[in-house]
Amino acid sequence: SLSERLQDTFDKLRGKGKLTEADINVAMREIRMALLEADVNFRVVKDFVASCKEKCLTAEVLDSLTPAQNVVRIVLDQLTELLGTTESKLVLAQNRTPNVIMLVGLQGSGKTTAAAKLAYLLKGQGHSPLLAACDTHRPAAADQLATLGSEIGVPVFRGDGKDAVKVASASIREAVDHLNDIVIVDTAGRLQIDEEMMQEAVAIKQAVKPDQILMVVDAMTGQDIVNVVQTFAERVDFDGVIMSKLDGDARGGGALSVRAVTGKPIKFVSMGEKPDSLEVFHPDRMAKRILGMGDVYGIIEQAQKVADQEQIDAAERMLREGFTMDDLLGQMQQIRKMGGLAKIISALPGGERALAQQGGVDESSLGRIEAMIRSMTKEERARPKIINGQRRKRIAAGSGRSVQEVNQLLKQWGEMNKMMSKMRAATQGGSKKQRRQ
Ligand code: GDP
Ligand code: MG
Repeated sequence: SLSERLQDTFDKLRGKGKLTEADINVAMREIRMALLEADVNFRVVKDFVASCKEKCLTAEVLDSLTPAQNVVRIVLDQLTELLGTTESKLVLAQNRTPNVIMLVGLQGSGKTTAAAKLAYLLKGQGHSPLLAACDTHRPAAADQLATLGSEIGVPVFRGDGKDAVKVASASIREAVDHLNDIVIVDTAGRLQIDEEMMQEAVAIKQAVKPDQILMVVDAMTGQDIVNVVQTFAERVDFDGVIMSKLDGDARGGGALSVRAVTGKPIKFVSMGEKPDSLEVFHPDRMAKRILGMGDVYGIIEQAQKVADQEQIDAAERMLREGFTMDDLLGQMQQIRKMGGLAKIISALPGGERALAQQGGVDESSLGRIEAMIRSMTKEERARPKIINGQRRKRIAAGSGRSVQEVNQLLKQWGEMNKMMSKMRAATQGGSKKQRRQ
């Protein structure tokens, strides 16, 4: 992958100590190849490598004590700049109700999915969105939106289902009547850019005067992405990009080209099919991820999203009273909510590499542990110490696992519990110290 190739290049530089101009040239050639293979637009690559090279070939860098680190930092900075430097927020007009957000893009790019995800995100922020089904060309399109809407509890306006412009206009009146403060307009797309599609998008735009037009771009589009976004920029114009299906594209080439080619910011990235998989785009984090430095912030945010008061209470209780099997079960469910072990590990620095070397993680081990815990009685879960040989056999039989696996689980629990008591001792020690002062 792109990350692996760049990391290899940096590893080679680090192994050298002192760097010469020739070393930098070799590294830059490798970076160029890696970016091209990741489908980054060739003009973007050319400019990118030229500016990196210029910054690297200074006495300041070459004669520094840590030249390789400086090169990595320069590439990271340039990559962050390429991706837009700062987060570009969704701008909502304060003095207009409802606000109108219109989505455009090719068919299959992920507009309808993104419309629902955006509605879900805005609903979570206390807004009351309305989804407008303005893809009137495919009969199933409105049904798809209606299904997504009912999953996330957001109303969907279908109007007469015939004239996209009329549906769009009527959806604004509907929103006013029902006190929806945001209308998200889903539109039709074609497989290729075509005149009728562009005219319809422009007509909807004129009818509803959107506060924001977002273009949904499939991250896996490849080199063609440049033509597509440029044409939309010229014909309809848009304020920002939602990059979809980034979960399926480890190369990240599309994301790297779009900003440079159109000057339009990426505002959101979509990382899966579930309604909560739309994330605000952070150029610095994406750059770090591409360089294999891990998206630790993303994971922390994800953790914050799923952590509720119940879990905070649970953590406090664990510190007070020790760690039960129910706690372990709860933690595993937490991992599931965060997208599974593989997602968490790959977000850690060097994690993607470690995963690749290991050939992935065995997510099913979570399921096996869950099965064993579920075969324990309430008392056993609360006080695993009482689980003797007899009970181990029963748990193994009940969960379809071996006694050795049950032993292993109890051993792990023992170690976790030891760690927990150490933490308990440390926090109590800390408060004693404070008292003494
Ligand atoms: P539209 O034609 O632009 O409205 O595209 P859809 O929203 O109908 O999406 C087309 C297909 O891509 C559907 O099967 C979606 O489930 C899928 N899809 C959309 N966004 C994502 C994403 O971020 N990740 C993945 N893996 N699939 C997605
Ligand atoms: Mg659609």
